[in-house]
Formats: sequence, structure tokens, C-alpha cells
Amino acid sequence: MKSNVKVLRVVESEAPELLAEAISDELFDKVRVERIPVLIKKIIGSHRGHCDYESHREGKEITISSELFDVRSERLRPNQIREIINVYLHECAHRLLPEPFGHDAAFLCLNMILHLRAGDHQIHLVNIYDAHQEKYFKDAWTWAWTLADELYKTDNTAEQCAQIITSKYKPWVEWMDGAYDRAAELHARKALAIDQRNKAAQANENIIKSLKQDRWLCAFYSAVATILTLNYFN
Ligand SMILES: [Zn+2]
Repeated sequence: MKSNVKVLRVVESEAPELLAEAISDELFDKVRVERIPVLIKKIIGSHRGHCDYESHREGKEITISSELFDVRSERLRPNQIREIINVYLHECAHRLLPEPFGHDAAFLCLNMILHLRAGDHQIHLVNIYDAHQEKYFKDAWTWAWTLADELYKTDNTAEQCAQIITSKYKPWVEWMDGAYDRAAELHARKALAIDQRNKAAQANENIIKSLKQDRWLCAFYSAVATILTLNYFN
């Protein structure tokens, strides 16, 4: 039976010129990531790519916006290549980490590794957005950079790096949860010690004040006694 409804399906096709240049064999050798397929699609909005949940995709593919592959000019070509590599590696980092995907310290760390391995002009494309959902955003940068710096030089594949990061991320979050409680406890202990020190200083001051009063009373009584004694002998 024939239907008149238009049907769109995902079919394998040739890589556009810019994609072939950017996502090259050389890149895979450097980054040591599996060849994750690309779905090219029009994406409306500020995003240039995305990584769907398993339930919404054909296979392992990640999606990149079709507008990234329009050749703009020869002058802009190197920037376009870097941008395509950046989007591809970003979405691969999502793909290699467990669902649900997010922009946390674990994602930041893996994205750093992929960009460090890709070459000199890529790491600066890792940015604040990559960890913006992290509860411990400020500390995420030190944690992610330290681990990324250690792992990117190893022979581990990107998938193995993702597994190591995943195994270390949860304990780090738990430690951070505890670290904040410990800091609050330490702060309370310091406040108590300061309060006790202030109270002790106040008590000392009171003793000194009372001793001073006693000294004046003593002097007064001595003076009275002296006057009385002198009067008696006169
Ligand atoms: Zn993302």
C-alpha cells in the first residue's frame, strides 16, 4: 500500500568537506576515542550539537548542526575546523559518560582530556559552560584539571579515561559534601574558642578592676589611720 505522507529517515552518507578535514584519522589517533558517528541536522538556537539519550537515537551517534559545515571563507576555515572539532569532542565526552548527561566536574575533566589530546589550539575552547551544572563549580576546576593533567598523557583510551573519571567523581562529591560540613564545624569551634577567650579576658579585667578598687580603699583607710594616729599623739 502506498502512503502520500513524506517520510524522512537517517541514511549513511559522505562526510561534508569540512567534517572530513576536521574529524580526521589523525584526530582519532591523537585523542584515542572510538569513531562515534555524526548525525548532521539543522539545530535552531544557540546549541551547535547535542547528545541524545539512548532511547532517542539510532545508534551511538551524536548530532552536529548542519550550519557548521557551510564553507564560509578560506580565511575562516581554520576557525571553523577548530569549532567542528570542539563540538565533536564535547558531544563525544557526553556520549562516553553515563546517562543522564550533564555539565559537571566529571564532564569537564573528560572534555579537558579530549581537548588536550587534540592539540594546542583546542584546550582554550573548554569553558565555563562545561561545568555550569556542577554543585561545587569553583572546586571542580582544580579537581578536573588535576585529574585531566594526569590522564591525558597516559595510553588509556578516552573510554578508559571516562571510566576512571566516573569511578573518582562520586567519592569526590561525597568528600566535598563532608568538606563543607567539616568547614562549618571548624568555624563553629573557632567561634566558641573566641567567645571563651573573650569571656576569660573580661573576667581578668574585672579582677584587675576590683583589685584597683581595693588598693584605693586600702590607701584611704591607711590615710584615715595615719590622721587618727597623728591626732592622738598631738
Ligand atoms: Zn554539552
